[in-house]
Amino acid sequence: MSHQTTLLWEAIGFTVFFLYGSFFEWWFHKYMFHSPKIVKRTFVHHTLIHHQVYKFEPESYEWHAPREKDHITMDWWALPAFLAVHAPVLIGFQMLTHLPVAIGGLLAIATYYGIYEYFHYAMHVPGPQWFQRSKLFLFVKEHHRVHHKYMLHNLNVFFPLADTVLGTYRTEFTSPRIERNKGANRAKAAAQVKTQRQKATVSAAE
Ligand SMILES: [Zn+2]
Ligand SMILES: [Zn+2]
Repeated sequence: MSHQTTLLWEAIGFTVFFLYGSFFEWWFHKYMFHSPKIVKRTFVHHTLIHHQVYKFEPESYEWHAPREKDHITMDWWALPAFLAVHAPVLIGFQMLTHLPVAIGGLLAIATYYGIYEYFHYAMHVPGPQWFQRSKLFLFVKEHHRVHHKYMLHNLNVFFPLADTVLGTYRTEFTSPRIERNKGANRAKAAAQVKTQRQKATVSAAE
């Protein structure tokens, strides 16, 4: 395999695993951070501490002195743990298929994790960085603020791909899934009224 082809496969591995990162984050956030069933420690740190220290209201969502700037990032061993969980899968896949994707895939996991931690911290602790005033950052910051109110929505922090695909994306005022259900319920109720009317007409005719 030429050097270019190897690089291309690593780039494919990176892209696929970066996209997968959004779904892994979604799962991890829902079941490891907001449920005590699998691991209690991550639930306590996130739901009981992070969400209690930083809330939806703007004055609580952002850090203010003299509060400590803590309870935002994960434990130092989180990244090694994520890499250790995914390494056997990636290396196994590479050994079976001879497609060099393992380094790209692991790099994507580390990059995704790094961006997650950096931006999640920046959302809660405003700083002088240029991006803090950019539209894109303000959008994802608001996306995460809504999560601090509706904990089972907006489970992605900076890349809401899984939220969009899995129907958990919402704004402060609207949720596409709730709106859809409302629409479906209205249609159901209208259908029921129609059947009742038809029954009434039939019995009146008899
Ligand atoms: Zn947060
Ligand atoms: Zn959360």
